[in-house]
Order: sequence, then C-alpha cells, then structure tokens
Amino acid sequence: KAKDPQRTFYRTDMHTTAALPSERQAKPTGHLPFGRYYADHMIDVDWNSERGWEKPKLHKLQPLQLHPGAKVLHYAIELFEGMKAYRGIDNKIRLFRPDANMARMNATAARAALPTFDSAELIAMIADQIRLDGEWKTLGVGPPQDAKLFVVTCPVGAYFPSGFQPISLLADPQYVRASLGGVGAFKMGCNYAPTMLVAREAAEKGCHQVLWLTGNNEELTEVGTMNIFVFWKNEDGDLELATPPLDHGLILPGVTRDSLLCLAREWGEFKARSVSERTFTMDDVKRALKEERLQQMFGCGTASVVVPVGKIVYHNRKAARHEVWHIPTMESKQNLMQRLYDHINCIQYGRFDRPEWTVDV
Ligand code: PMP
Repeated sequence: KAKDPQRTFYRTDMHTTAALPSERQAKPTGHLPFGRYYADHMIDVDWNSERGWEKPKLHKLQPLQLHPGAKVLHYAIELFEGMKAYRGIDNKIRLFRPDANMARMNATAARAALPTFDSAELIAMIADQIRLDGEWKTLGVGPPQDAKLFVVTCPVGAYFPSGFQPISLLADPQYVRASLGGVGAFKMGCNYAPTMLVAREAAEKGCHQVLWLTGNNEELTEVGTMNIFVFWKNEDGDLELATPPLDHGLILPGVTRDSLLCLAREWGEFKARSVSERTFTMDDVKRALKEERLQQMFGCGTASVVVPVGKIVYHNRKAARHEVWHIPTMESKQNLMQRLYDHINCIQYGRFDRPEWTVDV
C-alpha cells in the first residue's frame, strides 16, 4: 500500500517489547557521569522516501545495524536532541519543555533534509519509554573511545558515456560550505550534511550543482563536491588556468585538482605564474564574461574527472534578483579541459605510464 512519505508516525502504532528481567542491566549506584550508562530500552522508527515512516518500535537497547554505505557515516546526515526528565518531589517524572526540543528537532530535520514528524506523537512515545526505564539516562559529548575503519567499493560506469554534458550551477552567497577556522579542508561528514538542502534548492531552480562562494566579495571556492578551475585571459592579458588556493583552509585538497595543476605546469605552455592557485570572485568572472576573456570553467574530482560548467544562476543580493550567466566552456576554441581530461584518462587506463601516480593491484 502506497504511503505518504510526509505523513507522521503515531504512538498508537508503536509496538512495545519490554526487555525480559534477565536482559536488564544492574542499575549503577553512586556517581552518574554523563554518557557512561544507557537505560534498557530504545525507540526506533524507520523512514523511507517512498514508504514514509514505518510503525514505531519500543524495545530493548541494542546495537544498530547499518549498511556501510549509509549516508550518515559519510556525510553526517544525522541530528540529535537532548532533554531531561526529572523525578519530582511527588515521585512523578516530568519532561521539561519537550515541545521546545521537538520543535527544534523538526527544524533541524528540515534543514538536514531528513523527514519531520508530529512532535506530540514522539513526546507520547518518549513518555512510554521513560515509564519503562524510570531510573536511567545519560549521554555526553566527547572524543570516542572506540572506532572502526572500513573499506567498501562499488562499480561505476563512465561519468559521461555520451561525451561531456555541461552543468549549470546555483551561486547563492547566502549559503557557505566552509568558514575560516572551520574544517572545510577535511573530508569530514559534517561538511556534507548541510549541503543536502542547498543541493535540493539548486535542483528546484533547474541547476545540477551548487557553486560555493565565500566572503563579502563572493570568492568562488568549490562546485558541488568538486574543486573548480577557470581558464581565461586574465586582466594582464595572459592565458591563465586558475583554481582557488588551499591556504585559507576552505577547500578540500582534491587529488584531481593537484593532478591537473601538475600536468598543466609540466606542459609549460603558460607562463609559470599563469597556472595559479589564487582567489577569484564573482565580479572577476562577470567582468571576464563581459570582456569575452573567459574560455572555460570546470569542476574536477575523482568521480567525474572533469565536468564542464555551462551556466550559472547567480543570486545577486545587491540587486535582489537572479541572473543567468552563460559560460562558454563547450564553445571554447581552446579546449584545455578536454586535453587535461584526455591526459589523465590515459594515465588512469594505462595508456601513458606514470608509475609514481599508479599502484598495480
Ligand atoms: N571537494 C569536495 C568537497 C569533495 O568532496 C571532493 C571529492 N573528494 C573534491 C573536492 C574532489 O577531490 P578529489 O579530486 O580528491 O576527488
């Protein structure tokens, strides 16, 4: 039966299986540090984008089983809430303002592109859980004491089986991917979770990816989960291949980025300083387009190697309007992007030998 993915779950559907007395743990005595002990029961409710919420279950605490490809493990698409229950002078247990926690949880869910639910239903379910687990509860923030490293692989076909398809980008300076002093230069899941909703907005505006900007002067940083390159005649009139610099800690140091820089520098066709790691802004791109200096713009990363950019939908905040910029990557007479792609592809498929870049299996 088709279900509405937006529909909430209901407490009346919850299936409760209390832990057997033999399955219950001895209650700790004395000091209760945060995050040391967990109570005997847990609630879980599964959700799926086609089927919506399944029926809630209240059962004994048990490890989660996750597919190693689960997005939470890679992109940190998760959320949590923390609230307290107090045993009162009348021996009743009271949750303190759970509606406020549930409202924040639903707001977080919406921002994380996770499903929302009816707050009152979850509060009622938690009340059931707490009645079962009267004397417990702790959770704490701190570095982990246990970890697991795992490796998974998956087969992939050619990214562009029928030749390069240019993509369009949403450039909206109200969103930032990484901030100064933050962790943008690291491949941590927390950099990816906040991007899901922005990617959805880009899709709604007919764009394939997000062009991530930073700072008041709207410097370009990355595109989707790729590094970005422009190939243009710069303001000194020199042909230049440019990508934003790593030294501000805002950009993931891509292996493809490094490889393309390396190849372009080896070819030595440009003045040494014209294969550059330097900042450039939306204004720089706009001016280059106007003066017909911009040849190509492309993203690069392991998945696609290179992806041509054909269009930018720019949210011009000063003018309070969206502008559509055509980027002439595909029409450019000088197809540097293609040459870089061909070269790296030849190394990857063993047509060119580059032993320091490949490891035989
Ligand atoms: N930027 C981000 C945010 C990424 O996730 C990736 C993919 N790892 C890249 C850039 C490209 O890096 P690489 O060339 O190493 O795949």
